[in-house]
Amino acid sequence: MSFFDRFRKNKAAEPKKEEPKKAAAPVSKAPAPAPKEEGQCWTKTDATVQAALLPAAELGELLPGAPPGGKFNLAIYWAAACGGCDVSILDINERILTVGDMANIVMWPIAADGKEHDIAEMEDGSITVSIISGAVRNTENEHMVKLLRQKSVIVVSYGSCACFGGSPALANLVPGGAKELLDYAYTKVPTTANFQADYHKGAPVMPQNKYGAPEGELTLPVLFDTVKTLDQVIDVDYYVPGCPPMQESISYMLKAVADFAYNGVALPPKGTNIGVVTKTLCEQCHRRKEYRRITKIVEPHEIDVDPELCLMDQGILCLGPATVGGCNAKCTKAGQPCRGCYGPTAAVQEQGASALTAIASLFPVLDDDATMEEGKIIDIMSTVKDPLGYFYAFTMGKSLIKRSVSEKGGK
Ligand code: SF4
Ligand code: SF4
Ligand code: SF4
Repeated sequence: MSFFDRFRKNKAAEPKKEEPKKAAAPVSKAPAPAPKEEGQCWTKTDATVQAALLPAAELGELLPGAPPGGKFNLAIYWAAACGGCDVSILDINERILTVGDMANIVMWPIAADGKEHDIAEMEDGSITVSIISGAVRNTENEHMVKLLRQKSVIVVSYGSCACFGGSPALANLVPGGAKELLDYAYTKVPTTANFQADYHKGAPVMPQNKYGAPEGELTLPVLFDTVKTLDQVIDVDYYVPGCPPMQESISYMLKAVADFAYNGVALPPKGTNIGVVTKTLCEQCHRRKEYRRITKIVEPHEIDVDPELCLMDQGILCLGPATVGGCNAKCTKAGQPCRGCYGPTAAVQEQGASALTAIASLFPVLDDDATMEEGKIIDIMSTVKDPLGYFYAFTMGKSLIKRSVSEKGGK
C-alpha cells in the first residue's frame, strides 16, 4: 500500500472529534499570503498563481516526527549533474535531519546507500517522492529515471539541468554527437592527448561500453548524441528550476510534501514550477534601467561597474529580461549579469532568442533613430563570445534549436 493510500486510510479512520495525537499534530502556522509585489512561489506553467511564497524559516516547525501514516519513502537521484543540486538540498541546514523523521531515504547516491537493485525490488508506486537532478545523457541515466518514475507517486525535476538540459545540454552543439565528444576528450584535450601519445602511441585507448574481464563482462553506460531534459524522457509532476535552486524553493518543496503528509493539504497542480514568480528577473532587480543604447559590449571585469545602474545599460549582457524571477536577482546584486538559470518566463518558449531580441532592441537601429550602420552592429555583436553558449547556457535542451547538425548529415 502506498504512502498516499495509507495516509488516506488513516484520515478516513480518524474519529471526527478526537484530538489529534501530539506527535502527528500539525504545528505549522498557515502561511501568510506574500504581498503581491513580492511575487508567488508556486506558479503553474500557465502562470496561474497557486500559493504564496513561504519563508524557509518556517520549515523546521513542520516536521515534528513521523507523519500520521508513518514515514514515507523519498528518493534523491542525480543523473548528468555536477552535484551542486544535491549539495543545495543540504542548504536547509540542520532541518535536513528532520527530513529523516518524515521520510525513509531509500536512495541518495551522494549521501546514503541504496542501490539500483534495491529500488527495482520495491513495489511500483511505493516511493512517494523522487527528486531528480541532472539531465539525461546516457543509458544509465535513462534507466534510472524510468525506474524511479515507475516506483514513484511524485517525480520532481530538480535544478536547471533536469528542467532545461542545463550545461550538459550544451554538448548538443557538437555536431558529431557522442563520437566526436569522446574523440575530443580522449585525444584532443592537451592533457589526455599527451597521455595517450606517451603511453598508447598510435592507438589511443577509447572507452568501450563492454569489456570482457577475467571476472566477467564489465559495462559502461552508452552516451547519447543528444542530451535530454528529464521531461523528455519521463512524465514529471513538478519543476524546481535554478542552478542550483534557492533555499526558499527547496524549503517550499519539502514543506508542500510535509503539509500533505502531516495535514492532508492538497498538493499543487501537476506541472507547477516551484520557486518562480510571475515576473521577469528584471522586475526583481534593484538596478535602475535607463534603456541606454549599447555601443559596446563588455565583461564586468573590464569596467568599473555602477552598483545601481542596469548592467545592460553599462554594456554587460544580462539575461534578466528573458528570465523568470524567483532568485531575487542574486547575481545582479553581486554585480554579475544574470545568465538565465531559472529559465524563461511562462510567456516565452525560447529564452535565448528572447534575450537576443531584448539586447538587439538596445542597438540604435530603429528607422527613426538610424544612428548606427549595419557593419558597426555586426562588429558589436561579434564581441559576444560564443553567443549560443551565452544565450542558451541553461536551456539548450528545451530550445527549438536543440542541437547542431553537420551539413554532411551528421547529428
Ligand atoms: S542545475 Fe546547476 S547545480 Fe544543479 S546539477 Fe545542473 S549544473 Fe549542477
Ligand atoms: S537587465 Fe539585468 S541588470 Fe538590468 S534590470 Fe534586468 S536583471 Fe537587472
Ligand atoms: S540572477 Fe539569473 S543566473 Fe543568477 S541565480 Fe538568478 S536566475 Fe540564476
